[in-house]
Amino acid sequence: MSTTQFVSKSTGQYESKAYSAAGPESSLTPATIKRREPGGDDVQIEILFCGICHSDLHQVRNEWSAMPTVYPCVPGHEIVGRVTKVGTAVTKFRPGDLAAVGCLVDSDRSCNSCESGLEQFCPNMTLTYNSPDTHLGGVTFGGYSDSIVVKEHFVLKVPENLNLAGVAPLLCAGITTYSPIRHWGVTKGKKVGVVGLGGLGHMAVKFAHAFGAHVVVFTTSPKKKEDALNLGADEVVVSRNIEEMNKHLTSFDFIIDTVSAEHDINSYLQLLRPDGNMTLVGAPDKPHAVSAMSLLFNRRSLSGSLIGGIAETQEMLEFCSKHDITADVEIIPIQKVNEALERLARADVKYRFSIDMATLKQSKTT
Ligand code: NAP
Ligand code: ZN
Repeated sequence: MSTTQFVSKSTGQYESKAYSAAGPESSLTPATIKRREPGGDDVQIEILFCGICHSDLHQVRNEWSAMPTVYPCVPGHEIVGRVTKVGTAVTKFRPGDLAAVGCLVDSDRSCNSCESGLEQFCPNMTLTYNSPDTHLGGVTFGGYSDSIVVKEHFVLKVPENLNLAGVAPLLCAGITTYSPIRHWGVTKGKKVGVVGLGGLGHMAVKFAHAFGAHVVVFTTSPKKKEDALNLGADEVVVSRNIEEMNKHLTSFDFIIDTVSAEHDINSYLQLLRPDGNMTLVGAPDKPHAVSAMSLLFNRRSLSGSLIGGIAETQEMLEFCSKHDITADVEIIPIQKVNEALERLARADVKYRFSIDMATLKQSKTT
């Protein structure tokens, strides 16, 4: 059965402050963008914090051939804030409530994926930025901005007990790691590998640890070893050390690969035990070379995972509330966003940048 759909009837537009990129080589600069006035089932949110995902960097620099960037581009899909206005058909939110938005702002709500709570696979889903904007034309603009208007179904409730700057990254880094960890049955007694200790990786460590698994982090950065242990890892392997890698041959139930750049995945596939699975969430543009032998022996499987559905995102936020889990963040003013993107490109962040959006008031927009 299809869910009742309220069609947003936009009554107009208003101006919002933002940071946008004019092209793949441009820095992000202050800009004024248009947002729709909230219609019947819309929620308008004042953005308080927005996380910086490596996908923002890929998209701003037009690194994904499958998803070319339309400029100007306003990135940001790890959004947390406060409701400022709601449409007449909105029932779950009131002005003043905390609210969050992740990578999705719309879908058709009637396909098999939507009806199964997997809106992220809907053929007609709208991403928070760089998707066609069915209301205003052009493309959608993301959370590096002071406000956003989103259909109620795609707005998440934020537990009151969590630090807001650390909640923002849960909306992408959190759900992207929580979802495959749940799907592949990570529990006590399982041996789980996390490849890459960045924004996604550090959340994967926290979740796998919270589910009781034995967690091994694979990193290219020896200086992250101690942090990995503090985040909940039981062991840390510097992945460039072949000897250390070989100690773990054929031993993992599940490995999650969060690496944003080209790397050899066969060296991880051979660490899986019989019927073990490795899931890719990292999204480098260049195709991976996969050795058939790595998969044939021990009936291993290789899969991927894309964020998570709305209901599962809400479930993840409740799980975080119960287990007191948030992202470890470096809070930055928006004026430092270009420096932060440079540092992210060098894997130099502990472990997610979260932009304090109140600082946007200090920037003169054009
Ligand atoms: P991030 O914070 O930059 O973390 C990526 C980590 O990968 C780095 O910290 C680094 O960890 C490792 N790494 C970087 N370059 C490497 C290289 N050349 N060789 C080996 N390891 C390297 O990025 P993120 O925000 O976590 O995102 C990671 C990837 O996931 C991106 O490609 C992003 O687009 C993608 N993503 C996918 C989804 C999805 O739905 N599937 C959602 C969000 C993001 P060490 O220093 O520990 O080696
Ligand atoms: Zn993301």
